[in-house]
Amino acid sequence: MPWFMDNSFAHAIVLPGTWHYGRIHAYFSSYQPNTTRGLSTIAHESFHVLQYQDMGRGLGLFRGFILYYLADYFELLFKNGFKKGWAVANDIAYRQHPMEIPAYKQDDDFCSFCVSQQTQLQPANIPEQFIKMHCGYQAEHSFPFLLLAILVTLIFSIIKPLTEILFIIVAAPVWILGQLIRGVGL
Ligand SMILES: [Zn+2]
Repeated sequence: MPWFMDNSFAHAIVLPGTWHYGRIHAYFSSYQPNTTRGLSTIAHESFHVLQYQDMGRGLGLFRGFILYYLADYFELLFKNGFKKGWAVANDIAYRQHPMEIPAYKQDDDFCSFCVSQQTQLQPANIPEQFIKMHCGYQAEHSFPFLLLAILVTLIFSIIKPLTEILFIIVAAPVWILGQLIRGVGL
């Protein structure tokens, strides 16, 4: 998992390449393609990849997927937060997220399919319903939430690469020094 997700509840995530306009990376805390649960998690994350592709390119974290994902998330969070409390609203914003609902459906359907196949799962037997060309997402969030999402994405699009550059600047001399000390010690 990426460094800023170390203590996260998530066991998989799809993120854009920080230094790229179209590349997408899928991260798994435990990658298990040999289990039903592991396969359905891959199906779930693959659906997010499809959403990324449908929502266009960008630069680093600044992608259509991230903007729309955050806009929908903020809208659900703020509409529920004041009435139900922020912890509940956070859960609703994830569970009822218009990009998570179809990803979980793909996940669940694929899980049921794997169970029905038992040990006979073959790539050639996978029904067409699981092979999708488009995610079918319709943007319905209101403008203030999209604006908030743009601001947050912009900030993270700048902070993440800067943090990584700073880390390299600090870590490189420390690493070289370590090598020198080891060299002297030998
Ligand atoms: Zn998801």
